[in-house]
Amino acid sequence: MENKCIYAKKCGGCDYQGVDYPKQLETKEANVKKLLKDFVKVSPIVGMDNPYHYRHKVHAVFGCVGRGQVVAGVYKKNSHDIVDIENCQIEDKEADKIIRDVKGLLKSFKIKAYDEDTGYGLLRHVLVRKGYHTGEIMVVLVLVSPILPSKNNFVKALRKNHPNISTVVINVNDKKTSMVLGERNIVVYGKGFIEDKLCGCTFRISPNSFYQVNPAQTEHLYEKAIQCAKLSGKEIVIDAYCGTGTIGIIASKHAKEVLGVELNKDAIRDAITNAKRNDIKNIRFVNDDAGKYMVSLAEKKENVDVVIMDPPRSGSDEAFLSSVVKLSPKRVVYVSCGPDTLARDLKYLTKKGYQVEEATPFDMFPFTSHTEVVVALSKKR
Ligand code: SAH
Repeated sequence: MENKCIYAKKCGGCDYQGVDYPKQLETKEANVKKLLKDFVKVSPIVGMDNPYHYRHKVHAVFGCVGRGQVVAGVYKKNSHDIVDIENCQIEDKEADKIIRDVKGLLKSFKIKAYDEDTGYGLLRHVLVRKGYHTGEIMVVLVLVSPILPSKNNFVKALRKNHPNISTVVINVNDKKTSMVLGERNIVVYGKGFIEDKLCGCTFRISPNSFYQVNPAQTEHLYEKAIQCAKLSGKEIVIDAYCGTGTIGIIASKHAKEVLGVELNKDAIRDAITNAKRNDIKNIRFVNDDAGKYMVSLAEKKENVDVVIMDPPRSGSDEAFLSSVVKLSPKRVVYVSCGPDTLARDLKYLTKKGYQVEEATPFDMFPFTSHTEVVVALSKKR
């Protein structure tokens, strides 16, 4: 076990701070077993060998205390006071170091951290994203205005200690909001995005793109999902709630055709870019509500062999699930980040002709109470 987290009392980000890792896994597994007991015998949880510093997306909020002393870290639980964090047990160490270095450079560049109360100052947040397999790093400086003094020298100074930084982007957020990123990105160094690899495919990560924060475990999760789909190369597959297309793109190599559906327009744009980047021709993406889209497929009596679904924590909805039943695919693979809503949706599907074959929990977020589960269902004969 690493030393106890010195920020635990103030930060409140980790629900399982002070709990041994094996005990954390035991608790999560028991919770999933309890929720799914009526459907299947749950497989052992897939934990991490090293549960520390797994976050490859790290965000720090910047601010001032006292007479202009800069702090950078996270908001204290239920408040807008910032806890100054040197290094966090679950964040990538290099990302934390970069955030420290940004903080250290502010004074000599005469850059002021933003003060929420007075609205004075420039730098609001720093976001660091790191590719797991590529090691490429993107630094996003979230500013109130688009102008960063001596920006080229600032980048140079930052890259001197961290040559892995392959791109630096200014994101402009001038709104009074709790959202970290604004809409406008200005590339000040590099391409404005990084790339990473997962399960042999390459994915683009832009400042605003959704990308799993724990890539090591994501690979295990996706591998399991694809394995559960039992693809032979002949299937028509739906990747519902597809985000930036990751699961569908990986699956497309083993399927005849994949159709991805996702509500978020930006995510769909990234998904199309990702498919092109991997030279994949048998995948299409649709920007729509997954439920609505499935209803339209069901009305047209489309032929669908496998449905892979990865809904948000709130789970799926009746429109979607009833259309799955109508489309009657051989297999459904349910990737869930909310075991409660998973249990609710499984209840529906198992009443309507599907049976659960296996369920495997994954610990994607050590030290937090979240658990992901991959479930394989098949049509009852
Ligand atoms: N499968 C992806 C993303 C999973 S996160 C991955 O592994 O990276 C869940 C996704 O569901 C998000 O991208 C979110 O935008 C999308 N989503 C939420 N509600 C939706 C809806 N009603 N219809 C379609 N997509 C939805």
